Amino acid sequence: MNKIVIAIDGYSGCGKSSTAKEVARQLGYIYIDSGAMYRAAALHFLNEGLSLSSTKDVVKGLSTLQITFQTNPSTLRQETYLNGINVEEEIRTMRVSERVSEVASIKEIRQAMVAQQQELGKNKGVVMDGRDIASVVFPDAALKIFMTADVDIRAKRRQVELQQKGQEVDLQEIKENLIARDRKDSSRVESPLLKVTDAIEIDTTSLSFEQQVGKIIAHAQKVIFN
Ligand code: C5P
Repeated sequence: MNKIVIAIDGYSGCGKSSTAKEVARQLGYIYIDSGAMYRAAALHFLNEGLSLSSTKDVVKGLSTLQITFQTNPSTLRQETYLNGINVEEEIRTMRVSERVSEVASIKEIRQAMVAQQQELGKNKGVVMDGRDIASVVFPDAALKIFMTADVDIRAKRRQVELQQKGQEVDLQEIKENLIARDRKDSSRVESPLLKVTDAIEIDTTSLSFEQQVGKIIAHAQKVIFN
């Protein structure tokens, strides 16, 4: 069967990752969470105390940064590793969320992430979510989705997600972080978040998870069987 690349972009906390993961599972495709890569990079720069305004530090940070994904055998979930250490939990904390957009605005860091993403998706049969997947990483993707949702709904969903991981975070703090990241991600010079003209927009405000997944699968099937 004809395998395609599905690019899913959109605002923070729209449910891109969980939706993309399920779409990939149903199609038997691989799933790549590009946001996890920027989060792991941000954690690395934070842990190493490296300055983003120093080119020397950025080069040093990139030369000592290795991001990989591994499937957890008991949960079958894909988890993110930074230099061989499982950081799946740590990269979702507010400490990282507060710094990640700054790290993702650095050209050299983006170039390194994009090169790895393109390599991971080169054999097609991939669903990748992020901010610049349709515009920069896979501009030729056969299916491009742009996800949006009301910011209050997004904040509430994110709060529930964090609670399920045992993290209690104030709703307002989450909302402010989402708004700040959207603003930084949309206004940066390097590969800003944007909806490409050939993307299909899906507003998930009043959609259930199953409906979100169903819509993308329906679009994918149209493309695959066309
Ligand atoms: O998708 P997630 O919310 O985990 O992404 C975290 C951050 O990583 C985003 O707010 C954005 O700053 C950055 N990012 C990016 N380009 C991508 C994916 C994520 O700049 N393709």
